[in-house]
Amino acid sequence: MTAWRVLLISGYRPESVKRRLTLHFPREAVHQPITYRLAVDFDIAAKILRAQIAPNQSGTMVVELSGDIDELDAAELWLEQQGLALNRAPGEIRIDPERCVDCGICSSVCPSGALRFDRPSQRLQFAAARCLVCEQCLPSCPLEAIALVLEQP
Ligand code: SF4
Ligand code: SF4
Repeated sequence: MTAWRVLLISGYRPESVKRRLTLHFPREAVHQPITYRLAVDFDIAAKILRAQIAPNQSGTMVVELSGDIDELDAAELWLEQQGLALNRAPGEIRIDPERCVDCGICSSVCPSGALRFDRPSQRLQFAAARCLVCEQCLPSCPLEAIALVLEQP
């Protein structure tokens, strides 16, 4: 009996892996049923962790994809063909309290409201749960107090 037949008889299924991605949608692509197509065409489950997409505007979505590794590769290629930009190594945004002077500049570029300047206290507030890891705030800080800490592979 060949190895393939043994695998088929024993009900072997390729190992499912997880990948976390940040998807940047151009305006033309925001109406696409991305998670539906991933499920139907690639048998991939997409868990949306954070999303910031408005009708007729560009948007960002952080997703955790689960599926066969070859299908994940094919799905990523397909997503890029649809015009989406993919960040394959998302991490976390950290604010260095030793460097930050609470000038509030970064809050003006944050699309999700994760960075907010609190006027009464004159302090910067960072709500990590709202962060899309879009990285738009990184170049805005004149003191380089904002960093993207990448996840370990
Ligand atoms: S990466 Fe920066 S600009 Fe983007 S959502 Fe997070 S805090 Fe806001
Ligand atoms: S731009 Fe930099 S220094 Fe200013 S509030 Fe944001 S993190 Fe702090």
